[in-house]
Amino acid sequence: MIQLIRGFKDILPGEVELWQKIEAVVAALFQDFGFHEIRIPIMEKTALFARSIGEHTDIVEKEMYTFPDRKGDLITLRPEATASVVRAYIQHKLYAKEAIQKFYTIGPMFRRERPQKGRYRQFYQINAEVFGVAAPQIDAQLIIMLSTLLDRLEVKNTTVHINSLGCFECRPGFKAALKEFLGECQDQLCLDCLRRMEKNPLRVLDCKVPDCKKAMEKAPVLLDYLCSPCQEHFKQVQKLLNIFKISYIINQYLVRGLDYYNRTTFEIQTSALGAQSAVAGGGRYDGLVKTLGGSDQPAIGFAIGFDRLVEIIRQNSEIQKAGPDLFIAALGETAKTKAFDWLINFNLAGLKTEMEFSQKSLKTQMKRANRIGAKQVLIIGENELARERVILRDMSTKEQIMIPISNLVEQVLAQFGLKGEN
Ligand code: AMP
Repeated sequence: MIQLIRGFKDILPGEVELWQKIEAVVAALFQDFGFHEIRIPIMEKTALFARSIGEHTDIVEKEMYTFPDRKGDLITLRPEATASVVRAYIQHKLYAKEAIQKFYTIGPMFRRERPQKGRYRQFYQINAEVFGVAAPQIDAQLIIMLSTLLDRLEVKNTTVHINSLGCFECRPGFKAALKEFLGECQDQLCLDCLRRMEKNPLRVLDCKVPDCKKAMEKAPVLLDYLCSPCQEHFKQVQKLLNIFKISYIINQYLVRGLDYYNRTTFEIQTSALGAQSAVAGGGRYDGLVKTLGGSDQPAIGFAIGFDRLVEIIRQNSEIQKAGPDLFIAALGETAKTKAFDWLINFNLAGLKTEMEFSQKSLKTQMKRANRIGAKQVLIIGENELARERVILRDMSTKEQIMIPISNLVEQVLAQFGLKGEN
């Protein structure tokens, strides 16, 4: 039998209800904060990701699903959404329509990482991106929106981590100091970090290898190198978070894996998921629109790991697959013919209804109704046909009432507070 690809998964009925519930909460909240949905393709030209995420990041170096299409052009299954949203923003000149634009998008991402609990090769993200606002208020507003979402979804035990990555003015000074420091402690670094040291030294700061972590305890601290506008920006963000009682930790090791970030970065971490502790992450990326060929536009965004969110929520709540409102248990050909007519009428009227098509005993049909969680069962056998009345049984109270066959659809619908077509 052909099985699914390693690191990919199916989201089956029974679980999908939780995904739908989260999507509804996200849409309502994000729209209240002024965000509009945008849908972007799952494939883009490889150059878009290489240029935005950075040639020397783990994602671009080893995790992208990249292949030539039939004409030989290199295309990539998107590893993240920001690059595509920025591309769409520039391509459709959305900045010309309105100076401030806020988008959200939900969908699958693809990274060829080592699969484990909480880490997949196809995973889902909920993204929010804002263009055109340089003020620290938007940084705070995004973090408040993210925290509110987690509260509404009753996700507990999360911590907001924040840091500032500085800007193109002050980061080079920090990078130089960090490189010098790394040069001095080379013998304590893992092979990956020795490689990163040259091309992407900031990433050494968040390496999870214990020896590297230990070595980084004495590393220079980014916040000490911030220029005064960056310092002021970061101070304002903190002040606003304090006003709105969002507790946070300033984490000097929080650098994020993508090149385009500057100034405020943040991550929501949880203790509920073992090794994969990040539920969401984001930050400012003021230079990216210009890097990708647009005008100079400040921007900020975040991505929530949808799969991880679901895993945390599932630990706390039991979501039930919704059973049908009605099950029709019919015995014999004549009854089944009538029942099928009612079934379609109920389906069209918005009453979730199922019936048994094959010839099964009444007992077997009632068992199935029970198993799938039907709220009520309509029972029609030879006797009922002869008396022109059928039984409507409430599966939880076990109460039964008789319903005349003439006018049955309207009467049953009325029982459920629905109206028929005529
Ligand atoms: P990133 O785009 O790497 O900043 O990731 C944002 C969020 O997406 C993370 O905080 C995770 O919750 C989630 N995420 C990233 N990679 C994976 C993955 N391979 N599997 C599941 N979730 C992921």
